Amino acid sequence: MNELLVFMCDGAPVRGEIVSIGSAWQAVLERRNDPPAIRRILGDFVGAATLLSASLKFDGTLIIQAQSNGPIQLLVVECTSNLSMRATVKLSVDAEQIASDATLGDLLDASNTGRLVITLDPANREPGQPPYQGIVALQDTAGTVIKPVNSAAEAIALYMQNSEQLDTRIWLSSNETHIGGLLLQRLPDSGGHSHLDPQEAAEGWNRIKTLGETITDEELLTLTPETILRRLFLEESNHNGVRSFPARNIQFACRCSRNRVADVLRMLGEEEVEDIIAEQGQVETACDFCGKIYQFDPVDCRQVFKTDLLSDATRPPTSGH
Ligand SMILES: [Zn+2]
Repeated sequence: MNELLVFMCDGAPVRGEIVSIGSAWQAVLERRNDPPAIRRILGDFVGAATLLSASLKFDGTLIIQAQSNGPIQLLVVECTSNLSMRATVKLSVDAEQIASDATLGDLLDASNTGRLVITLDPANREPGQPPYQGIVALQDTAGTVIKPVNSAAEAIALYMQNSEQLDTRIWLSSNETHIGGLLLQRLPDSGGHSHLDPQEAAEGWNRIKTLGETITDEELLTLTPETILRRLFLEESNHNGVRSFPARNIQFACRCSRNRVADVLRMLGEEEVEDIIAEQGQVETACDFCGKIYQFDPVDCRQVFKTDLLSDATRPPTSGH
């Protein structure tokens, strides 16, 4: 089950999404060797990336990147508008040093340096035109006391609040085999729900939010999106109910290629590459996302520098290789 379901409420100004990922998540994990606490956080961000990607209004890629001076140096999750995703984490400490109950706040140094960068990168972006980026500090400064953000759901909600200016609630859960997520977003009162007066709209949002709050981790991890939708919003049938769109499939797919590695070598420069060959006999590199190994022997490397086309060099460095 690798499915994402989008739904709309008729009696409330709410758009929602439910995601359930199984084998596609296992495909990410079997290529990696992360400790449990890291897997949980990575899983939550994969769930978040699919939920955010499903509402992209263009063909392209959504990238969630978390950076810190904490044990997680870098975490990258990418999901395209057709729901192909990949994910990677780089740790600054040995995996054994990470406690199994470590929170996102601990791992991403949320009381100090942690931040989240969300990039929206259209496929047909003009060269030189920067992608849209939203940056969120992982500290909640809304109250009088600065609180570290302790979950991916909280971090994404902060981002949505800053960027979309739409009330959004998000629930995420993940384990070693599954990821589940629910997103509820309040739509502007004008638009498709103009038949609701402001009071009905506010009541509708509160009603759906309250129903959303009853979701459990176990339900998110074991039930299909259709079943969750039916169970959660059973009572909503008194208010014209909810309409869902055909479920969309999610898959794991890496975008790495030999050409992209060649571009990286060109960016390193001929001199540097020759130094590596002198030392190691060849250049060998593994993809950070899928672990695939690319080897370039001296003849391959000479070939790389014969042409000076930087076909992919203008893409953001987070796209990997
Ligand atoms: Zn790859």
